[in-house]
Amino acid sequence: MSDVRNVIIIGSGPAGYTAAVYAARGDLKPLVFEGSVSWGGALMNTTEVENFPGFPDGIMGPELMESLRKQAERFGAELVTDDVTEVDLTADPKVVKVGDEVHLARSVIIATGSGYRELGLENEKRLSGRGVSWCATCDGFFFKGKDIVVVGGGDTAMEEALFLTKFASSVTVVHRRDELRASKIMQDRAFANEKIKFIWDSEVTEILGDDRLTGVQIRNRKTDEKTTLEATGLFIAIGHDPRSELFAGQLDTDADGYLLVEAPTTRTKIPGVFASGDVVDHVYRQAITAAGTGCAAAIDAERWLQDQG
Ligand code: FAD
Repeated sequence: MSDVRNVIIIGSGPAGYTAAVYAARGDLKPLVFEGSVSWGGALMNTTEVENFPGFPDGIMGPELMESLRKQAERFGAELVTDDVTEVDLTADPKVVKVGDEVHLARSVIIATGSGYRELGLENEKRLSGRGVSWCATCDGFFFKGKDIVVVGGGDTAMEEALFLTKFASSVTVVHRRDELRASKIMQDRAFANEKIKFIWDSEVTEILGDDRLTGVQIRNRKTDEKTTLEATGLFIAIGHDPRSELFAGQLDTDADGYLLVEAPTTRTKIPGVFASGDVVDHVYRQAITAAGTGCAAAIDAERWLQDQG
């Protein structure tokens, strides 16, 4: 059992680290649980970030996150690379567990982000890392001169497809509808790239391969026609799910699982519990907006703690 902390921050993306910088500079000595898979959040899976203010020439995602992490540490945030496995947010003080380890805090800032969505097909998990991937930046290098399928029609799918053309001989985007959801600029870039082709109104119905991916079966949603597409890489880019399961039954969510806050604040329905970043935001979903609400959460927590005396 630990001493009672002023604030525990759960998550290590732009929201979590920004909350940590503000809370640490506010002398709250925050304890940050960064997650066990990797610290730094979603931007660890990307290359150049061109739209984070202050970097006119862009900055690599991992470099930006390393800087944010260092900045939080510089002011005394205590960082622990572990997963929070259970919480009791209604208890006083609030209980945050990491396995059997119990941590207590007067306030909690949630910044758990969102995770990649899966297709839900039989071979998906088995062939993950064997041709099936959710991260072009991590795995693109392994597909030099290969044929790749990308599933999805949003900005992430276009970003993945464009990145993969650096390595692949062909990239086929399979999309459920007859038009993309991606922003105009991303669509223009994808349409202009000779290596990218599109298969419209179609979905992947089977992932093929024994030890490694050999192809996918796709079904045309209008004609019901099924075809097999040979490929050695399948990149799934169909969106994200907010990581809010940990708080189920304690905090309210919308129909898609995003945590509800009393906007424009970061207050949740439980006093002393604040939520920020992509686990709340399904509208903007940017590093800078996540960082912005992380800052707001730390200020909200600081003021709430002050009011408690
Ligand atoms: P995340 O960055 O998702 O971080 C959440 C963290 O919480 C993770 O580290 C996770 O491990 C941790 N966590 C979760 N559960 C627990 C738990 N139980 N215990 C402890 N830790 C936990 N945005 C831009 O502005 N510009 C871009 O160019 C850009 N490019 C992108 C490229 C890609 C490929 C992707 C996927 C996203 C991109 N984004 C970009 C979006 C941006 O990365 C997100 O909006 C932002 O990272 C959200 O920040 P966050 O702090 O809310 O969550």
